[in-house]
Amino acid sequence: MPINLSKIAKAKKIKYFLISFVDFFGVLRSKLVPAQAIADMQKNGAGFAGFATWLDMSPADGDMFALPDPKSLIQLPWNKEIGWLASDLYMYGKPVKASPRVMLKEQINKLDKKDLVMKSGVECEYFLISEDGSKIADARDTQSKPCYDQSALMRRYDLIKEICDSMITMGWNPYQNDHEDANGQFEMNWDYTDCLTTADRHVFFKYMVKSLAEKHGLRATFMPKPFSNLTGNGCHAHISLWNGKINKFLDNGDKLGLSKLAYNFLGGIMKLTQPLTAFFNPTINSYRRINAPPTKSGATWSPSSISYTGNNRTHMIRIPDKGRFELRLMDGAVNPYLLQAGVIAAGLHGINNKIDPGEPLSCNMYTDHKNYPHLKKLPDIIEDALDQLENSKEIKEAFGGDTIKSYLKLKRSEINDFNQEEKFDKKSSVTHWEKNSTLDC
Ligand code: ADP
Ligand code: MG
Ligand code: MG
Ligand code: MG
Ligand code: MG
Repeated sequence: MPINLSKIAKAKKIKYFLISFVDFFGVLRSKLVPAQAIADMQKNGAGFAGFATWLDMSPADGDMFALPDPKSLIQLPWNKEIGWLASDLYMYGKPVKASPRVMLKEQINKLDKKDLVMKSGVECEYFLISEDGSKIADARDTQSKPCYDQSALMRRYDLIKEICDSMITMGWNPYQNDHEDANGQFEMNWDYTDCLTTADRHVFFKYMVKSLAEKHGLRATFMPKPFSNLTGNGCHAHISLWNGKINKFLDNGDKLGLSKLAYNFLGGIMKLTQPLTAFFNPTINSYRRINAPPTKSGATWSPSSISYTGNNRTHMIRIPDKGRFELRLMDGAVNPYLLQAGVIAAGLHGINNKIDPGEPLSCNMYTDHKNYPHLKKLPDIIEDALDQLENSKEIKEAFGGDTIKSYLKLKRSEINDFNQEEKFDKKSSVTHWEKNSTLDC
């Protein structure tokens, strides 16, 4: 039975729907539609001027339509008269190929042709900061090793509880909340599921945290590195591939519990990491978090070399448990759809070409990296990442050359804008431009 949003609105007393989409820069955009108009919108989509968003379009283009995915519906737990919907973009009757959710769905279809589903979980770290973004909100949160600090966590109980209660209501199965490694930093975890649902939830989580923080008189930021001396906001992803109820990444006979398929997938990611940083670490500010010197707490917890390991947090890929691996590269500015899409594209390349990732390393990569000079390094600045993307025939093949061209065009115009006003210097403090454009990422 097709889902009828108009009927659902009546049954659930939803008065307004947010028909939303995410553009290339991760901006969440919406129309607020009264329930009496939802039947038509469900059929024809909500209209937008594409050029007014971060998508590669012209002001002369016709209307772009956001067609809501009714399966993504979330009734806001803190305001039940509003229903939120993720949507796919269409123009002239066809999906917009160069748009994040459509790009992810295309990769999911490729996996589906192999009878595979990717399941993933994301860990979205965030800071609670002052209104102007100049400092963390809690002046008493000053420990040099603040991770898991119970007092600082519990001073935020009212907010954390409201977010966690919301996740329980939405059926996400949250299981833990903590204070993270930087002063003012928190993380809340919920269960993994199919990667499209996880991407939609990732989008909604950021919206929810920012909204509820505001309601509690605070400001939340997912900015990769808001404070140079503190650990940045990572967005690790945990990955497994399934066929029905069978985890195809699981091999109990392997010393780390991964199958040949999993190693090939992981090998593909390691091979294409450099171009993919353009998706995974998409802002100028992102490059203050990776390849960074140790922070006040003693470790950045973010990678600089391309390596994998067992249960060891100093490498880019960690295998914390059998049947899955964790990619620790991405940061809080990552576009939730391009995160999942990039992982699938690279992983499929690895499977199709049976790429061998080599042996895992077990060293402390933060102290011993000099002993591994052959390892490939992560790009040092966004320009390098974009050049790598431009030169990657594999990624262009996976998404289409025109789609990548559109992404590069927009990103380079953004960098141009930055370069007119500022100079990127990792040794100097975070610039005004970075704060203005990334605090609300
Ligand atoms: P850590 O901080 O140790 O990296 P977290 O508990 O913060 O781990 O996050 C782990 C994430 O991995 C959660 O979203 C969890 O649901 C997810 N996860 C667990 N098992 C799998 C799996 N088999 N496939 C994909 N994700 C998984
Ligand atoms: Mg108008
Ligand atoms: Mg975690
Ligand atoms: Mg964390
Ligand atoms: Mg993690």
